[in-house]
Amino acid sequence: MKTENNNKNRRKPDWIRVKAPLSKGYSDTFRMMRELNLNTVCEQAACPNIGECWQKKHATVMILGDTCTRACRFCNIKTGKGNPVDPMEPENVAIAAGKMGLNHIVITSVDRDDLPDGGADQFVRVIQRLRTHAPDTTIEILTPDFRNKPGALEQVVAAKPDVFNHNLETVPRLYNYIRPGARYFHSLRLLDRVKELDPTIFTKSGIMVGLGESEAEVLQVMNDMRSADIDFITIGQYLQPTKQHVELVEYITPEQFSKYARRAKSKGFLHVASSPLTRSSHHAGEDFEQLKAARANRAANRNIKMDAPIDIDEMAKLNPLNED
Ligand code: SF4
Repeated sequence: MKTENNNKNRRKPDWIRVKAPLSKGYSDTFRMMRELNLNTVCEQAACPNIGECWQKKHATVMILGDTCTRACRFCNIKTGKGNPVDPMEPENVAIAAGKMGLNHIVITSVDRDDLPDGGADQFVRVIQRLRTHAPDTTIEILTPDFRNKPGALEQVVAAKPDVFNHNLETVPRLYNYIRPGARYFHSLRLLDRVKELDPTIFTKSGIMVGLGESEAEVLQVMNDMRSADIDFITIGQYLQPTKQHVELVEYITPEQFSKYARRAKSKGFLHVASSPLTRSSHHAGEDFEQLKAARANRAANRNIKMDAPIDIDEMAKLNPLNED
């Protein structure tokens, strides 16, 4: 897709620049991941936050190998035939969680369209192992879409992660071009279904911006997410990993990210992260604490309102879907 707004020669703005990963924490995290034969999305996706996160020993483990069976045009992860599933992986993830001393861990995976269950069983094993080894660590999973894998989602939800994250990635108009193996409404329905199956699980989803989407399209995605009762939205800048990946159309300004954050909050998300360097797992532990607090506050407010006389006009103003 060629765009009028071609910025390929444009330098990164100051707000995108990050420090080189040179800390001892970074080296320790790197060594531990290699010793335990674990992959991380931090490295594979060339995440700009790796210096900051790994210094604090916050890494997002990527299970089910380092090769993805899809070929999304924005993603830096290697594509091809999936690796054999490592039976030691759940144990090694639990060991890594203990060594990192995390209160909250994020586990993601490559897409495994080649496996009959899409990798659901390995997610379940990892969750179970973590529950046994690190019972105080809360668990967030960032899953593939389990498209054409009947029963896979139900299996993973039954394992009771604390947060179920699946990224919509972009606006529906760009799916065919950017995410050809996926379907926007399938991904949305997946998250809706999580809530139907277990309303206690927090749901989370994210998009990248700077791919040529309009503001109106982003606001529509927010409305769609709220219709699926998604609790937490993340919005971050797309960064083109190599020249072979889909072209960056524009750097979205920090002011526009703040505007998106305000609009998202007004639509009723429990929590919002919107900034140039926001990524699904960035500050996930702190965000989880805020999610829990926001849910508790909302429940308390609802109880108070239940006792108050109903004002129809005020109710209409409170409905997050009334905006836009
Ligand atoms: S933001 Fe997430 S993917 Fe990026 S380095 Fe931090 S933990 Fe890893």
